[in-house]
Amino acid sequence: MDIREAKYIFKTGELTADHRRFFFMPKVFLIIGIALWTVATYQQMEYLAEKRSTLVAGVLPLFIWIIAYSVAFMVAAKKYPERTKIIYQAVIFLDVIFITLLIRTTGVCQSNFYLAYYLLIAIETFYFGMLGGAVVTFSAGILYMLLYLANSEQLFVGDFALRLGFMFLTYLVLATLEENEKRIRLNIESQKDEIEKLHGQLEENIGRIIEEKHFAEYQKDENARLLRIQQETTLRRRSHIDFAKELNAQDTIEETILLFTRYSKDLLDVDHVAIVTLDKKNRRSILYNEFIDGDIEQKEIPFNHPLIDTFFDEGGESETFQKIWTAGNKEELPDSFLIVPGGKPALLAIESLSGGKHGTSGMIVISSESEGELNSDCMDEVRMLGSHLAIAIENLTLRAKLQELADTDGLTGLFNHRYFQITMDREIRRARRYKRPLSITIFDIDHFKSFNDTYGHPIGDAVLKELAIIAQGALRTTDIIARYGGEEFVVVMPETDKNGALAVAERIRRAIAEHTFEFNNLEPLHVTVSLGVGEMPPTKTKEELIKMADEALYRAKESGRNKVAS
Ligand code: GH3
Ligand code: MG
Ligand code: MG
Repeated sequence: MDIREAKYIFKTGELTADHRRFFFMPKVFLIIGIALWTVATYQQMEYLAEKRSTLVAGVLPLFIWIIAYSVAFMVAAKKYPERTKIIYQAVIFLDVIFITLLIRTTGVCQSNFYLAYYLLIAIETFYFGMLGGAVVTFSAGILYMLLYLANSEQLFVGDFALRLGFMFLTYLVLATLEENEKRIRLNIESQKDEIEKLHGQLEENIGRIIEEKHFAEYQKDENARLLRIQQETTLRRRSHIDFAKELNAQDTIEETILLFTRYSKDLLDVDHVAIVTLDKKNRRSILYNEFIDGDIEQKEIPFNHPLIDTFFDEGGESETFQKIWTAGNKEELPDSFLIVPGGKPALLAIESLSGGKHGTSGMIVISSESEGELNSDCMDEVRMLGSHLAIAIENLTLRAKLQELADTDGLTGLFNHRYFQITMDREIRRARRYKRPLSITIFDIDHFKSFNDTYGHPIGDAVLKELAIIAQGALRTTDIIARYGGEEFVVVMPETDKNGALAVAERIRRAIAEHTFEFNNLEPLHVTVSLGVGEMPPTKTKEELIKMADEALYRAKESGRNKVAS
């Protein structure tokens, strides 16, 4: 073990078995020295024939005493390691007394054991520093001086002064060395502190640089991420705009809804999306649901359906309404809510569908067999696209209404002349292509001019209206009736030859003739009609067919009215 290390560790109190050996070794040497000296002196005394009892009585107890306390302290130091320092100092203190007594017993000034003082001073100074060394040096010096004063005749004063001087010199040399070493150590320690401080600063700086580098990298990544999100958002927005355009370009509500439900199903990654339109004024609600084969099923559901009730109760009319049932509140979802196929879904959500000038409103019903989070951004997008759907539905509804108005006769509610012409074109094409018969009958109210004259135009109008209903009731579902003009009507009968047409015409004639028109303050009224039937073939064109029916009608009139002619 390195002596310097031993010393340092000793001072700090962290002692090992090595340190103890190191401390007690000089004591062992001393004991051996005393033993050897005693034996040698004993033999010499025998030779000189002197009394040996003094030696035995004086040195032996001392010898036993030093062994006893050395061992006792060694054991104590082992047992109480934290008290090592004080125990060792006590040993040295007893050593000073022991050596003094030894010197006194072994010939006082003649004894050479004064040299052991040097050993003690050296050990004390070495182990316990300047102060400890000084205490031992002074106490040993004083004790030795007392011995000398009691026996000064034995030793020349110069000799004594030299011995004492050496004691102090030993102390001074070791104390100086010790002090120097301490200074060097302190210096080293302060340098070490400084180095550690610098090291700490360096580490801090490196840490900061690394942190800044990480931050820069993070910023770079974050910028790239934001850019990517922005690009994705732009792409999505573009695709949504294209989709909205496509929604508005559809011809039917069913096609529009199918397009919407498919798009939002993909967007939300769910199994099913359905639409419920709500007509609050008429308390009607229609469910548009996608069939497995990709068709839209349109079905009226009760306006007081629990899901619709919930929708209105919870503020579904607000444009941003949204309610979601998932794993958390699935129990709340009654079976009666289910309007979509496939059992109780793991996830159900409803969103408001609103938009358009006339406030077309409804619900978007989203459901999935598997639980999962609905992306709120996607939900917002679906709602936004829902407003396009609402507008598209409204436009298609308005368009259908306009079309209906354009095709309908205002007074009777039957198809008008324009629609009749279109139907004729279509049916003639079909009849020609498939070589199928096509017939028409034109009929005209008999003497209607005089009827008007007698009862007035308003009554005449009312008769026209009622007559339209009666005539319609006499038709088959495939027949199409239109108001041809004034008090003339026409029935288009696809897949019907002359005989079939004559039968239909006869039914109409009889139904009208047998009908009684009743008005307030008037006697029951009757009107009759004359009907002319035209057939294709033999006629080839629309004009020929109409002309044929017209001429037949003329003949029916000529032959007395209330007749069918062909
Ligand atoms: P005919 O038996 O030969 O048919 O005799 P008619 O008086 O009915 O003669 P015509 O068919 O030429 O009659 C046309 C009359 O039908 C003229 C007009 O008073 C009446 N009329 C035509 N359109 C309307 C209508 O929209 N409302 C009413 N109230 N009368 C109409
Ligand atoms: Mg007429
Ligand atoms: Mg007439």
